[in-house]
Amino acid sequence: MTDLSKISSLCKRRGFVYQSSEIYGGLGSVWDYGPLGVELKNNVKNLWWKSVVYQRDDVEGLDAGILMHPDVWKASGHVTNFKDLLVDCKSCKKRFRYDLLKTKSCPECEGEFTGPRPFNLMFKTFIGSLESESSEAFLRPETAQGIFVNFKNVLVSSRKKLPFGIAQIGKAFRNEITTGNFTFRSREFEQMELEYFTRPEESDKCFEYWVNERFNWYKKYGINEKNIKLREHAKNELAHYAKACYDIEFLFPMGWSELEGIAHRTDFDLKQHSKVSGKSLTYFDEVKNEEITPHVIEPSGGVDRAVLAFLLDAYKEEKVRNDKRVVLNFHKYLAPIKAAVLPLLRNRPELVKLAKDIYKDLRGDYKVQYDDTASIGRLYRRQDEIGTLYCITVDVDSLEDKKVTVRDRDTMKQERISVDMLKKYVDEKVK
Ligand SMILES: [Zn+2]
Repeated sequence: MTDLSKISSLCKRRGFVYQSSEIYGGLGSVWDYGPLGVELKNNVKNLWWKSVVYQRDDVEGLDAGILMHPDVWKASGHVTNFKDLLVDCKSCKKRFRYDLLKTKSCPECEGEFTGPRPFNLMFKTFIGSLESESSEAFLRPETAQGIFVNFKNVLVSSRKKLPFGIAQIGKAFRNEITTGNFTFRSREFEQMELEYFTRPEESDKCFEYWVNERFNWYKKYGINEKNIKLREHAKNELAHYAKACYDIEFLFPMGWSELEGIAHRTDFDLKQHSKVSGKSLTYFDEVKNEEITPHVIEPSGGVDRAVLAFLLDAYKEEKVRNDKRVVLNFHKYLAPIKAAVLPLLRNRPELVKLAKDIYKDLRGDYKVQYDDTASIGRLYRRQDEIGTLYCITVDVDSLEDKKVTVRDRDTMKQERISVDMLKKYVDEKVK
């Protein structure tokens, strides 16, 4: 298994992920996605959206605000329950999670601890100009509640019948005390969440369906079967409202850890919001002629964790002749750069023109790079290291036979393709 420092240094060097506010010494546990990182992350989100929303007729999308009415978090239980017990060191003032503590005194300075106190993980902010209690609000700690409070809106406007789902991708914020392992646990992160509403008696089958569906999604897009597994939560691990929960776990360098959770949330969320808001959040079943509160199945994945898992899984060091080749063999839909155009000579204007024309013709629907700043060997190594699918070299012969050499990332096989057919050739391979 690739170690995290190797991936994080590649990520910084090649522009996948940077530490937030680095020139100011960095901001802990917040990460910025660079030019290649944003492509990879967008590709992950697009693939999720396509398989969860576009390729189905029972799921609609939503993009709710990060700020919500403060009562949402009272209803959801976050104000009372979303807490860790913390202790502070009396000498160095460092803060620790009580449940993870292995020592009786501060591991940093051996100082004495304060008693454990609850600490809410939600980020507090203020709406309006007065910092008074009445305008207190929270940055959402999960995207799910935006879906629950819009259940009736989506139901009415989309005229959906049970079972149906509402999907959302968006940022969430948690003031975690224990962070780390690169982008695995950060204070600002992105979620891909689906809330799937079903009749109560169909909910168990539906739960099973989504566990399999989501597990297979990761494998379909390149995660090696050996690095992914399902783990069922023991009864004492379950949230009080949950009937069952599975984690999809990935073998991260620090060990098996959660990539996505699929929870059977029963009718807890809709009932809670109905109770606190005073508005009905039921569904009228026309066939059975009855008013019911649907049960909810929730597949909830972390975008940043998925990006990290796809990166770790794609990273390969290979021996090619006497050389070492580093390659990110991403699934073709995930690769940030689909093709690179590499002219062999920089001092032949007609060759440069042909290469630039090819580059302009290819780009637009996906990201293509143009690079002429090194020898061809180095250019190939650079592109392999970021997972570029096809390297297209334009040479002196290209001017005569109107053909270019296309090199496949994985097989390293080279093929001469006529310039006329190139766009179609690459489109077919990457779309
Ligand atoms: Zn201390």
